[in-house]
This record gives sequence, structure tokens and C-alpha cells, in this order.
Amino acid sequence: MKRYITTIVLLIIFTIIIIAVSRFYFSKNKTNDNAIPLQNNNANLNNQTSHDPLNSAILNIPLDKALSRITKKPFGIYVSPGNSPVTPEKFTGYHTGTDFETTPEEADIPVEIHAITDGKIINKLSISGYGGVILEKAVINNQPVIILYGHVDIRAENSRINIGDTIKKGDSIAILSPGYSPQSGGERKHLHLGIIKGSTVDYRGYAQNQNELSRWIDAESILGK
Ligand SMILES: [Zn+2]
Repeated sequence: MKRYITTIVLLIIFTIIIIAVSRFYFSKNKTNDNAIPLQNNNANLNNQTSHDPLNSAILNIPLDKALSRITKKPFGIYVSPGNSPVTPEKFTGYHTGTDFETTPEEADIPVEIHAITDGKIINKLSISGYGGVILEKAVINNQPVIILYGHVDIRAENSRINIGDTIKKGDSIAILSPGYSPQSGGERKHLHLGIIKGSTVDYRGYAQNQNELSRWIDAESILGK
């Protein structure tokens, strides 16, 4: 009888040890299982951030085939009347926007301009050098910005939006002005897209030095990636 009891007690102790060891083992595994996906998630986030610092997921190209149209005046190019990809040239300085050109076939047809991101229309007006201008207030990767769409047709019969409208990325906001018309500031038919940092409008199409130029964001660096 005594031997029987001893065997039972030993069995119980053995069972307790097995349970304790297995619990320890599984809890350790569980911790590791949790740790691996967390590390993977962090790695993915880091990858996205390093590939795409300005979060292109929130951006849209402003017109069809936009990136292949950037041929004459990219952001930051220095131009002067004696040295410019465009003739005749009226301006001197570092280009504060990105110019998107049109093809000869598009000369007489409407070319729609789309909002590059969600925002609010804060103004549409005529400005010397641009003709029609639409201003959109927005936030790009936590940076408040004002987006300037220049050389656009703001005449009532071609209007797509009103001041105060909330717009979504991709929404049609205007058509390009006809080339060499008052609505395009006398310029060729093209879009000037400027992205001004902060919430103060700066209409200048050209900056006089690199320090001034740093008030604008290079659209090409954040579109279509
Ligand atoms: Zn321009």
C-alpha cells in the first residue's frame, strides 16, 4: 500500500513537472511568434518610408502621362532670356514649379487638370505671367502646402470648381488655357505646378537664389513613384 501511494505521488510530481516545462516552452514560443511579425511590420514600415518619404499614396498625377511631359522646365532649372529651353523667355531665376507640356494634337482640345491630392480650393484668379491660377490648400506627408496650378482656364464657361470647394485627389479642377492667350499669360499651352511649403501664398514662378527656392517642393520627386 505504501509503495502504491509512493508511486502515485511520484506520478503526480512527474505530471506537474511535465506541465510546468511544457508551459514554459510554449510561452517562450508564443513570445517569439509575437516578436517576429512585429519586427516584420516594422521592417515594412521602414521600407515604405525610405522608398517614399512623401507618401506618394496620397498623390495623383495632374494630367494624363504627366511624367513624360516634363521636358522643358523641371523644378529648379535656372533660366534667363539668353539661356532657356523656351523662346522667347521673359523670366530670370530658378523655376519654382514643374512645367508639364502639351502635344501639338492637344492644341485645340480640352486638356483636363486633376487635383494631385485631397484639399480645399482657396482661390482662383488671374495673375500676371500665369493667366489663370487655381490655389489648393492641402497637406502632403504632414507638411501643410499650397498647390498652385498655373496657366489654367478660369473662365466661367469652363469652370470645374468654386472657391471654398473641398476636392478629392483626381478630381478634375480645370482645363488648360489656350496657348498664347490672356488666360495662359501669353505663354504656350502647358501646366505650371508649384507646391509652396506652409500656408502663405507665394506667386513667384522664379526664385532668385537656392535659399528662396527651398520654399517650394519639387513635384517630380513626389509624383508617380
Ligand atoms: Zn513654369
